[in-house]
Amino acid sequence: MPEKKLPFTKKKLDAIMAEFPTPFHLYDEKAIRENARAFRKAFSWNQGFREFFAVKAAPNPYLMKILQAEGFGADCSSLAELMLARKTGITGEDIMFSSNDTPAEDFLLAKKLRAIINLDDINHIPFLEKIAGLPELICFRYNPGPLKKGNVIIGHPEEAKYGFTREQLFEGYRICRDKGVRRFGIHTMVASNELDAQYFVETAEILFDLVVQISHALNIRFEFINIGGGIGIPYRPEQERIDLAAMNRGIQELYGKIIVANGMAPIKLFAECGRYITGPYGYLVARVLHIKDTYKKFAGLDACMANLMRPALYGAYHHITIPGKEKTPHDVMYDVTGSLCENNDKFAIDRMLPALAPGDPVVIHDAGAHGFSMGFNYNGKLRSAELLLREDGSVVQIRRAETVDDYFATLDFKGLKKFEVQG
Ligand SMILES: *Cc1c(COP(=O)(O)O)cnc(C)c1O
Repeated sequence: MPEKKLPFTKKKLDAIMAEFPTPFHLYDEKAIRENARAFRKAFSWNQGFREFFAVKAAPNPYLMKILQAEGFGADCSSLAELMLARKTGITGEDIMFSSNDTPAEDFLLAKKLRAIINLDDINHIPFLEKIAGLPELICFRYNPGPLKKGNVIIGHPEEAKYGFTREQLFEGYRICRDKGVRRFGIHTMVASNELDAQYFVETAEILFDLVVQISHALNIRFEFINIGGGIGIPYRPEQERIDLAAMNRGIQELYGKIIVANGMAPIKLFAECGRYITGPYGYLVARVLHIKDTYKKFAGLDACMANLMRPALYGAYHHITIPGKEKTPHDVMYDVTGSLCENNDKFAIDRMLPALAPGDPVVIHDAGAHGFSMGFNYNGKLRSAELLLREDGSVVQIRRAETVDDYFATLDFKGLKKFEVQG
């Protein structure tokens, strides 16, 4: 069985765990930076390529600042994410605002920050115009419908709530052109956690063809093409990383054949990946709290699905390493659980692991995207701290753990004393 490596020794982890109580999320700065550089390099054939990190994957200003330093923008989809970008010092066209079912106040702030606004629906054109006025640069999200097969996480495009139909795109750009909008972009995102490079090449082809057709039909010029996020990571140790080089060879070839050949170049390529950027470089660190032996063997952790929901939500695989027991035979089958009153609160089902004992450290891999950020407070569970392993080996806390005071902050217990109850 292939193993997944950890960026720290058992000794180092022991020292971190002595200082910070479990559970916590730990991010590896060095690996995030190296990966960010390699990602940019893979797309560097395209002048003006830009990655906008999908903030929802890991909405922490320290991580966003690191990615900003690596040349990334931010992809936001809510008011709070826009505010987070602003507080991190990311504004203007360094922000891609890709929202849906968008509240007015979100559009207002996006416009105020001069973010690139990516509309999800043709009806949002008059909605945005009325509340904030149309910006000079507009982008629409395309839903290719039956042209594209989806996957488990995002579903079939025809069933998906996102994006414009093809006809609506022509109509939408025409409306905006006639209202004086002069700068245009196009976006799509139809896959999530996709590991097949060819999938993204096909997506680019669909967008390139559309850009040529819309440009000719409406006599407008596209400034950028945003191929969205959704690049997958190998959660299972036996899976291969996506071949970014092959993906770029394919996209570059089509760019020449379609964009350059039709006189549309240069057009900037944008991406808005989250998972690919930080996913493999974040770890959920916990301890075994109890071992239980009934009809099955259970290893109960001090973490639960409030810290990492993906296994419970999608049945997703997350690899588990028991530091110090890597070489011990993995000959005991466990369900690795949390403490939530939900039977699907399991990080792993029927997983072969070394024999475990209370107090053992447990590292859950690939928790660096859509991990902490999906956390919730159901059952009174509190969200953990986030730590950053810096390049010099030091560890800093980049978010403290929630306390019960945070949990109760929205309640007024003083009001309860004066609250009259009959009977
Ligand atoms: C979630 C999301 C992303 C990021 O998805 P990843 O799978 O993390 O790459 C990008 N764009 C939009 C519009 C999204 O909703």
